[in-house]
Amino acid sequence: MHGLVIDGPRAFDASAFWHWVRSTGWKPESRRFVEPAPTPALLRSIAFSAARVVFPRLATSFLARSHHDRMRPVDVQIIGTELALRWDDGSESFIPLVTLRRHCPCAGCAGETDVMGNLHKGPDRPLTTRSSQLLRLEPIGSYALQPVWADGHTTGLYTFEHLRRLGAMTG
Ligand SMILES: [Zn+2]
Repeated sequence: MHGLVIDGPRAFDASAFWHWVRSTGWKPESRRFVEPAPTPALLRSIAFSAARVVFPRLATSFLARSHHDRMRPVDVQIIGTELALRWDDGSESFIPLVTLRRHCPCAGCAGETDVMGNLHKGPDRPLTTRSSQLLRLEPIGSYALQPVWADGHTTGLYTFEHLRRLGAMTG
């Protein structure tokens, strides 16, 4: 009793499909769009380049004057809540301003070691929001930067070595 024959669902023949696709000259490889997903570091690096256009350079003249062989920053920017430094070897450091302030090397914050090797350090003062707001950076010779914080703290001299260490610490 043959009446109306309805085709049931057939299994999808993938090889026949791709054979047909290739017969049209279409190559999957040529259509694949490969792009690395932007990483935070890449995005920050892009922001660094953009900020250099928008904001005036900090301490450019002294950076150019620096004649020491040791690593030195060739570009310094405050980007949002981070200090961005580009070093003369092309590497970049991004140090959160909060971290920068917490590692203030001044005697009041970090303490002072006497000739006997004893550390003298005052009580930790509570940091406020303004403590990690950076108003500007003053160049000190050709070896350090002195931040002027919004809460009035200005006594920290951050040597380039100290900044390199902080950058390596924070990634
Ligand atoms: Zn300090």
